[in-house]
Amino acid sequence: LISPDKIEEVKNASDIVEIITGYLALKQSGSSFKGICPFHQEKTPSFMVSREKQLFKCFGCGQGGNVFTFVQRMENLSFVESVKMLAKRSGIEIEDNRRSTVDFSEKESLLKANLEAINYFHDMFLKSDRAKSYAVSRGLSEATIADFKIGFAPGEGGLSSYLRSKGISEDAALKSWLIAKGNTGTYDVFRDRFMFPIFNIYGDIIAFGGRAMDDSQQAKYINSKETSIYIKGRNLYNLNNARKFTDGTAVIVEGYMDCVTVYSAGIKNVVATLGTAMTPDQAKLLKRYAQKAVIMYDMDDAGRQGAVRAGNHLFSEGMDTYVVSFEEVKDPDDYIKKFGVEKLKEKIAKAEPFIDFMIEQLKKQGDPNNAYFKETVIKEVAALVSKSDSSIVRSAAAKKLADRLYLAINLVEGYFGRKEETVPQVEGTIDDAKALREKGVDLAEKTIIATAINSLGTDDEQVILKHIAERRELLGLKYEDFRNNAYSQIMQKIKAYFNAGEKEILKKVELDYVDNEDYNSIISGIIADKERRDWQEKQKDPKAKKQEQDNMQLISDCLQRIQKEKAGREMEAVNDAIRQAESTGDTQALKSFMEEKHRLQMILAPAKNKLKR
Ligand SMILES: [Zn+2]
Repeated sequence: LISPDKIEEVKNASDIVEIITGYLALKQSGSSFKGICPFHQEKTPSFMVSREKQLFKCFGCGQGGNVFTFVQRMENLSFVESVKMLAKRSGIEIEDNRRSTVDFSEKESLLKANLEAINYFHDMFLKSDRAKSYAVSRGLSEATIADFKIGFAPGEGGLSSYLRSKGISEDAALKSWLIAKGNTGTYDVFRDRFMFPIFNIYGDIIAFGGRAMDDSQQAKYINSKETSIYIKGRNLYNLNNARKFTDGTAVIVEGYMDCVTVYSAGIKNVVATLGTAMTPDQAKLLKRYAQKAVIMYDMDDAGRQGAVRAGNHLFSEGMDTYVVSFEEVKDPDDYIKKFGVEKLKEKIAKAEPFIDFMIEQLKKQGDPNNAYFKETVIKEVAALVSKSDSSIVRSAAAKKLADRLYLAINLVEGYFGRKEETVPQVEGTIDDAKALREKGVDLAEKTIIATAINSLGTDDEQVILKHIAERRELLGLKYEDFRNNAYSQIMQKIKAYFNAGEKEILKKVELDYVDNEDYNSIISGIIADKERRDWQEKQKDPKAKKQEQDNMQLISDCLQRIQKEKAGREMEAVNDAIRQAESTGDTQALKSFMEEKHRLQMILAPAKNKLKR
């Protein structure tokens, strides 16, 4: 396994703000950074990242943790995999004496196979006059060919032997879908094709798209099938480059070739879907990097349909969505050739709002003078627009429909219901007094651990931890008595480090739980909560200073609450024992149980009196 020292080294080398910025846009807000949460759907940012504390927390969905937690969730990795990934990123060698998980080594071997394959394809490209002249005919510069690692697959079995010579196993080559098994052995999947490697956002090659260079081939495109490192609907072509240039706006084109030509013409914020219609996941992915989406598809029937579908997903994700239509030419590439890239940039800046485009497309599908057809159009647009939070967007859409369908506005508005307000989710259901009590205890336990953690490393550390220990012992409580096992474990750790005179307790505890998602989510959640509160308070009153006295009282109250809950639990057991002793006539036992009952009553009594009042 990876040693704690190594883990700390990797953690120190991986600045959380820098890592997260690779996945989504963050804006500085006070002492921390804010962004749209990638783990739940939201329009206003409640995802917070603290550089100082090196953690993230979403106040919308509650997810939080350190840099490893983030990478684990985003990439769907195990803890060890996330450490390895970040180590690789910062060039830290990790000697792992145990075999890593099967999954990870498979991912690694597929990436390696793809990397060797593109080396081969790129080399073949440079040797093929036909491929080179095809590239020239498409207007690709040498720089673009190098940037996109464009290749050529001759497909005469050369790839298999090349991969073998580089130590790539047949299994890896098969699994990465570079070669396939036929009746008479294996063959290259991509034959006589212009090759586009597909990168993930780190620049790893995860798949390929192969384009036919003339009409002799049946399929214009052949794309890699999905593998353990490649899910089509969750990647966008060129996002690894485009995300550096979005500046709030992303342009979406249909295919690799459009994407490469548009990018090399100077429109760098361009991505493409991967041989499929846009998926909701892709829209979500794009939204992390841009607020405005401009769809620029071919203006044939398929392209228009694709644009409507893509627009639906992008709009539903809350992006400002626009469509560029070409009347004069077929696609962006032709447009650039005919009118130049500056004209295309203008067109992008003045693109048509998606709702307008959608209404026009819908109108073409029937008789716009027919009342029933008009209703169909209205319903379809209303269904989409109702997903928008903005009442302005909704009423603008209604007005547009009324104009385009020659209807009175109040008639159209009837179809535009108010957006249902989202009800905040309540954790669990509180259906009885017992649940309510337990919730109270959970809050008390959480308050204790939060107070302890937030004191770590501050001037109050000694005072607070001492006070907790003293009060706890006075009430006869142990951390084992805590109902929440995680709180109990973390508090025991803090206690042990404190008693040992450890200086950097928080750091130690964080490292102890670095691979425990639940625990480090709890710790980071507590710290982030406080950060936010402090910041909000500073906004209200810059001179505000927290009051230690309140903390002391709070600790006592909470511990008492926990003690009572424990006494309540014990009381049930004692009552059982008393009944048992009565039935067997064991007077000796009965006496001691009655004493115990009396002790518990003393603890529980004040609460009962309070309730009666
Ligand atoms: Zn969230």
